[in-house]
Amino acid sequence: MNVKKEFILSGGKVADPFSGVEAKRDIGVKNGKIVDPKSLKKAEKIDVSGKIVAPGFIDLHVHLRQPGNSAAETIETGTKAAAAGGFTAVVAMPNTSPAADTAAAIEYLNYHAGRSGVVKVFPCGCMTKDIAGTEMAPIGSLKNAGVVALSDDGKGIQNHELMKHIVEYAKALNLPILDHCEDENLKGDGVMHEGVWSTLLGMKGMSPASEELMVARNIIFARMVDWKIHLQHLSSKESVEQVRAARKRGIPVTAEATPHHIALTDECIKKFDTNYKMNPPLRSEEDRKALIAGLADGTITVIATDHAPHTPTAKLVEFDYAPFGIIGLETAIPVCLKELYHSGVLSISDFVAKFTSGPAAVLGLDDRGLKPGNAANITIIDTERKVKIDANKFYSKSRNTPFNGMTFKGKAVATIVDGKFVFNEL
Ligand SMILES: [Zn+2]
Repeated sequence: MNVKKEFILSGGKVADPFSGVEAKRDIGVKNGKIVDPKSLKKAEKIDVSGKIVAPGFIDLHVHLRQPGNSAAETIETGTKAAAAGGFTAVVAMPNTSPAADTAAAIEYLNYHAGRSGVVKVFPCGCMTKDIAGTEMAPIGSLKNAGVVALSDDGKGIQNHELMKHIVEYAKALNLPILDHCEDENLKGDGVMHEGVWSTLLGMKGMSPASEELMVARNIIFARMVDWKIHLQHLSSKESVEQVRAARKRGIPVTAEATPHHIALTDECIKKFDTNYKMNPPLRSEEDRKALIAGLADGTITVIATDHAPHTPTAKLVEFDYAPFGIIGLETAIPVCLKELYHSGVLSISDFVAKFTSGPAAVLGLDDRGLKPGNAANITIIDTERKVKIDANKFYSKSRNTPFNGMTFKGKAVATIVDGKFVFNEL
């Protein structure tokens, strides 16, 4: 892609939640860093008037599938999809095959991300060996290898004593925990949300209590150990209520919502399309509204995609047999602009915060705002550009999205990583 040594993003509206700036302002970039535009004499001026200029978006929850399932995604295609979706960094979930439970697995990821990744890849290590939930992974050596967090995503640790132990070690190592909250007994072999629609459709339901119990467990441990537990892909109203109450008490829990859980409900399953099958499942309209209310009042500080690629052959089976998960990197901004910004729920700065300062705070990253001296990681959004989702044009290797064919208003039009345009539709 085009490499420019120095340039000025001119005439755009800066929305920077790190500094609180929401104003028309020029941004200078030189040698990969943000600089005062007045210090640049020969820089190329790039007209971004009418666009939103934001700090680089971070996705806390991405499955890159390499190693183990390169037919569905690779580090290269996944990070290209991230760039096209407006993300300058992704946190790679460790449930690859083999799982990222050793320093060697993290070195593998860092090596390939360095060679073929087009955005930053932050590695996340396992909490337990092979995500089996029975024995703690060597998290000290994972930390030394460069993981930014720990997670057993895809599964929840069922043994509470082991979980508490891991939270204590994670605190000692200054690593946040990203937890997939699920009680396996209550989830059973359900395939969709347990409610009116599962009854009508005759499908096995997954009780929201499966999530709510583990949210409660995690809040207890975050309080007892006084350590950061981030709750992944929150889906139920009662989970949101628990997080709201815990945060009011100062307990260090944070939570994320996915674009699909704030845009869709379990009623969609009546189409029997496996692109509506994910875990946690799409829940009721009441749950969906509670997630949006949680985003509006700051209970939920992060939007993460849970980008979960699957090949067409894996998904083209009966609903009961299809794997859980959908891709989300290239649809997140259009879907969320519709549900949260154009609908008037969030201001543009509050919208940007869910993808920038929110995830940065979870990871304990330093100020990544658009101030001179910082790395030039920038996401430029056109909130008004019409976009029709065409899965066949995705950079992702996979096509499993329920949003194919839908029309939205607004998208990322440029993504800049360390001063380099990795996606440009300006
Ligand atoms: Zn998960």
